[in-house]
Amino acid sequence: MEFISTRGFSDSVEFTQAVAQGLAPDGGLYLPKSFPDLSPNLKEWEGLAYDELCFEFFKLFATDMNPSILKDCVHKAYSGFSVSEVAPIVSLSNQWKVLELFHGPTLAFKDFALQLLGNLYEAQIEREGKPLTILGATSGDTGAAAISGLVGKKGVEVFILYPNEKVSPLQERQMTCTGASNVYPIAIDGTFDDAQRTVKEIFADLSFREEVGLSAVNSINLARILAQSVYYLFAWLRLKPKCRTKTTFVVPTGNFGNVFAGWLLTKMGIEISEFRVATNQNDVLHQLFKTGEYSLSSVRPSLAPSMDIQVASNFERLLYFILGKDSSRVQEVMTSFRKEGRYCFEKFVSSGFSSCSSSDLEIPELIKQIWDEFDYIVDPHTACAFKDLDPKQASMVLATAHPAKFPSVYEQAMMKVPKADELEALLGVEPRNYQVEVDPDSIRSFIKATLLKTS
Ligand SMILES: *Cc1c(COP(=O)(O)O)cnc(C)c1O
Repeated sequence: MEFISTRGFSDSVEFTQAVAQGLAPDGGLYLPKSFPDLSPNLKEWEGLAYDELCFEFFKLFATDMNPSILKDCVHKAYSGFSVSEVAPIVSLSNQWKVLELFHGPTLAFKDFALQLLGNLYEAQIEREGKPLTILGATSGDTGAAAISGLVGKKGVEVFILYPNEKVSPLQERQMTCTGASNVYPIAIDGTFDDAQRTVKEIFADLSFREEVGLSAVNSINLARILAQSVYYLFAWLRLKPKCRTKTTFVVPTGNFGNVFAGWLLTKMGIEISEFRVATNQNDVLHQLFKTGEYSLSSVRPSLAPSMDIQVASNFERLLYFILGKDSSRVQEVMTSFRKEGRYCFEKFVSSGFSSCSSSDLEIPELIKQIWDEFDYIVDPHTACAFKDLDPKQASMVLATAHPAKFPSVYEQAMMKVPKADELEALLGVEPRNYQVEVDPDSIRSFIKATLLKTS
């Protein structure tokens, strides 16, 4: 299977190369050139366990990988989840279901992709004998999940930038208390967008990329998107056939990676009527779906910090389809957007998407409401999904994190603070992080100096 860049100036590549590179050399994002039709497989896939389904799905894309190695990567990725279903579904009412995506090692949905990605990297290093340097920016959960997926992997050094004092203390501990010698969490003075911009600039430096074997774990990596498509398919297959096409998937959204992964299935013969994009007070995407205008302002830190994002990287992938797969138009829109900080889509075809946003006042209220009504505790990101959710609409809400990751919000909601053993265990470990200026030169020098020391 071939993968092409949204910007159209890079050669198409095979799966392993798209995974190793993360971002395409022309600055675009990789997408499959054509999509397999899944419909003939669905009957057979209905009863599969999570990792089996994931393997069958990936086999269609990772055509340049040895299937038994792929199978092993997939199996290992999900064997560390704490429940055997991997992604259990809880019914709140006749209409509302919750897909729990927080039973991985770092208690957020990002484990689904990053546990697998870590194994794919390892397989690649074994095959090619070349070490990899992983660089990413995080608003909290990506960093923790990336680090967990890559801890102790041979031939991999991991550098993760995060905004100092803007991730939750527990998220920070998940990154800084691993004790692993191949992991470098870097606290920067600035926002997530500052961190992400710096990472993107470093990725644009092709000679540096080549020199250190740089790869991305941010949600721009295609393997992450595909790994996330699997749980939508898994949940969809568990719905009664007559409910499948009527169920809305409700997705707490920041970088647009998660919801895009679900939407991608609609290109593969899976009928899903609607995706509801739920944002926090950083509601750029909500405004876009409402008005057609994509307009940046500054990030306002919120109670759902993993969605404190203005520039949603993965939106470019949707844009590619909206603009009729015309790469030069994508290039044009992205350039104009970068210059002006806004872009107005005259005819924004929002087909298949709806949206909502929740303020910081509403988040604790929503948490309390769900608890009172259903005896169910949601984390502050998942809470956003319930804003104005129609009780008569069949909905599958994606629960993106375990409530125990964000304890302070429950005090505001006047509820008991949820706990998780995995997090309690971190409290006894000494944290270690690094401080580096958030500019490309400083980060590059830090990476080079570190690699020299470890080689
Ligand atoms: C990352 C994250 C999100 C946002 O997901 P995107 O793929 O960036 O849209 C939502 N909730 C939680 C808990 C997260 O960690």
